[in-house]
Amino acid sequence: MTEPLQTTSAPSTMPTAGPAGFVEKTPLERYLPPAKPSLVGLSRAQLGEALATVGVPPAQRNMRVQQIWHWLYVRGARDFDAMTSVSKELRAALAAQFTLARPEVVAEQISTDGTRKWLLRLPGEHSLERPHEIECVYIPETDRGTLCLSSQVGCTLTCPFCHTGTQRLVRNLTPGEIVGQIMVARDRLGDWLGAARGRGNARSSADDGEKSGQRFVSNIVMMGMGEPLYNFEAVRDALLIAADGEGIAISKRRITLSTSGVVSNIARAGAEIGCMLAVSLHAVRDELRNELVPLNRKYPIEQLLDACRNYPGLSNARRITFEYVMLKDVNDSLAEAKALVKLLAGIPAKINLIPFNPWPGTRYECSDWERIEKFSEVIFNAGYASPVRTPRGRDILAACGQLKSASEKLSARERLALRAMAMTD
Ligand code: SAH
Ligand code: SF4
Repeated sequence: MTEPLQTTSAPSTMPTAGPAGFVEKTPLERYLPPAKPSLVGLSRAQLGEALATVGVPPAQRNMRVQQIWHWLYVRGARDFDAMTSVSKELRAALAAQFTLARPEVVAEQISTDGTRKWLLRLPGEHSLERPHEIECVYIPETDRGTLCLSSQVGCTLTCPFCHTGTQRLVRNLTPGEIVGQIMVARDRLGDWLGAARGRGNARSSADDGEKSGQRFVSNIVMMGMGEPLYNFEAVRDALLIAADGEGIAISKRRITLSTSGVVSNIARAGAEIGCMLAVSLHAVRDELRNELVPLNRKYPIEQLLDACRNYPGLSNARRITFEYVMLKDVNDSLAEAKALVKLLAGIPAKINLIPFNPWPGTRYECSDWERIEKFSEVIFNAGYASPVRTPRGRDILAACGQLKSASEKLSARERLALRAMAMTD
């Protein structure tokens, strides 16, 4: 019999990338929010408006937008001086008002399996609030490199098996902060056109990624911190920039948005972004799903699956991925595996079993490997590929659901204390 158990990721044979350089974590207190706005993450129309403010005449705007877009998203320019095809005067005028800044990288961790995690710092919502922190993870595999992006600082939902769900603070990320995560990853990996490829690059020059069109970051998943469909517009705008063929150019088929089931925005994701969809199902009965994914009380399984059936562009070639976290003695019986297959009948689906990734203080355990294999076999025998997602980067708490930054909402008292300190400074 064919072995049903597949793993989606083997230990990487992708070259280890990354420019030399050590990222030293600076204390939060030393953080300086950017003084000028960054052009990263603006749509073409917004970029045109920015050019108008520095006096670029309307007739030239489209051409200038095109140039800057190329420098930003194909070449990865970090300052205006790099933009050699743009006149010196315009570069100076832009630099006086704008930057090309990305979120500040405060730490970089590299797992024994090649997974990288970056801790990024963002400005707080007002000047007295501490800066916010988010995490972003790069997972190299043999045939692809996947970047896992955050959409919010923390998450308003409280799935009890998810580390992010225990973090109180929530602020939506801006499109610039979402696109900024891609920029940071490509900066750190040396993944821009014309950039020196990273250290330890095993490719010969004839097989250079640049020539073959292969890049370190080939896929994007919105599976980091936050619920992307609760920050819909910013996520949409950022993903449309990532998919733009004249820029970062990651095909929409290589972009997957994972939702815990925000039914009200699922159709919009299909229509307005057109990316692939992943749904965090995790249970086959409402009673258990109410507990594991509390949003189920608002949007129960039947409604969620209806929205999936109607997902724009759904076909056998474009299936929805159903994620199912394997929690020991909670949702991992073989009866549940059978029920899962029945539940999804008729929906073009893939089922992705995720071994639970533990984090400090959790009350859950990962199912035994033997049980995961048996569960997977039931699904395989029903005709589904049932890849088990090999945990990546567990040693640096970079695996699914382990992300949590130190940012927490300040209590009113803490805020008052900070304000008082600022006033007496
Ligand atoms: N908020 C979105 C996307 C981020 S979570 C969502 O919930 O879909 C990405 C995936 O990791 C989800 O399927 C989530 O349920 C899963 N996950 C969360 N915590 C996990 C953990 N500790 N171990 C394994 N998977 C986890
Ligand atoms: Fe939020 Fe997703 Fe974690 Fe649930 S699993 S708390 S929706 S990030």
